[in-house]
Amino acid sequence: MTGAGTIREREARYLMQTYPRSDVVFVAGDGAILVDEEGREYLDFLSGIAVTSLGHGNRDLVEAATEQMARLDHVSNLFYTEPMVDLAELLSEGSIGGPVFFANSGSEANECAIKVLRKHAAARGIDSPEVITFEGAWHGRTYGAMAATPALVDQADLGPMLPGFIQVPFDDPDALESAFGPNTAGVMMETIQGEAGVRPFSEATLELARRLTRDAGALLVLDEVQTGVGRTGSLWSYQQFGIVPDVMTTAKALGGGMAIGACVNSEELGQVLVPGDHGSTFAAGPVASAAAGRVLEIVDRPETLRRVREAGGRLVDGLVGLSGVESVRGRGLRLGAALESGLDSAAVRDELLGRGLVVNAPRPDTLRLLPPFVVSDDQIDRALEILGEVLAEAR
Ligand SMILES: *Cc1c(COP(=O)(O)O)cnc(C)c1O
Repeated sequence: MTGAGTIREREARYLMQTYPRSDVVFVAGDGAILVDEEGREYLDFLSGIAVTSLGHGNRDLVEAATEQMARLDHVSNLFYTEPMVDLAELLSEGSIGGPVFFANSGSEANECAIKVLRKHAAARGIDSPEVITFEGAWHGRTYGAMAATPALVDQADLGPMLPGFIQVPFDDPDALESAFGPNTAGVMMETIQGEAGVRPFSEATLELARRLTRDAGALLVLDEVQTGVGRTGSLWSYQQFGIVPDVMTTAKALGGGMAIGACVNSEELGQVLVPGDHGSTFAAGPVASAAAGRVLEIVDRPETLRRVREAGGRLVDGLVGLSGVESVRGRGLRLGAALESGLDSAAVRDELLGRGLVVNAPRPDTLRLLPPFVVSDDQIDRALEILGEVLAEAR
């Protein structure tokens, strides 16, 4: 039996207290709209942190997942299933062309990438492999991914951390170059950092990372967990930067709300892991795979990607015109609005929520906007209106 006490009391009693939650209980969603327990509507400009890119309750996705659920739910990776292989083909052919390992989250996709990095280094005779990462990076909260996430490695009470990760300052080409040594297994990075407040690397640094890893015989791993699946206006963000990674990871929007992640090797890199190196009971289950296959099919249409760029352009134009917004970073529908000094992004976020606009505040000076691709021009204009009001009052 459940229900004694408010949902907030029961959450505090029955869940590990790892999240500071905003004070709202969502009960339904449709497109770019969320509904709370009192029937109030909100514009969802967060999409569950870049997950529900095709909007809530998307008919195509509901159909793909429920049809598959009714036909065949789960059999494990001890057998062949069609949705898994279909999805691997779509992912591989739509990106860097090599084999795919499926996981259930971004962190797990990155765990696979770390295994690929180490295994590849071992084959080159390196026994203490080093992975170069950047300050501000976010690769996840499992131990491997956490070691690659500078903001998380200084938690002594969670230590010891996985060794072999080197941090270099953000977008610093000299530091990147001097971090290379005989034990370098590779570089792991995003094209545009997300949790650091939507912070793009310069094309020069991305090109340098590509060149240095190639010259060293090391690997370039691009974490497309947040930037991928259309979010920046191309299927993968690297396509806009003129570089091709050896390994790419994806998750978040891939399942449109179903938990799935993937690590893809380039065609040139090919197979690195062998039986026994890695595995997952749930990964690429038929239901998540069917949903992800439908997501990729829809996102990889020229009209979908064009709409992401157009809607993003409209949002940027509106944001730069708001007093209180100092600058706007990012591409497509993945934008960071840097606020004027003196404005506290968390306070602004809370006020926006109270007026029916959902965003988040990854940094004290930045709001992050990640609306679903189905957002309408009217909804963008309405969100800008709410933002304008709240910022004007906060200044
Ligand atoms: C969210 C995120 C992750 C971690 O994904 P989880 O699904 O939370 O494990 C990894 N990398 C990037 C770039 C992310 O934004």
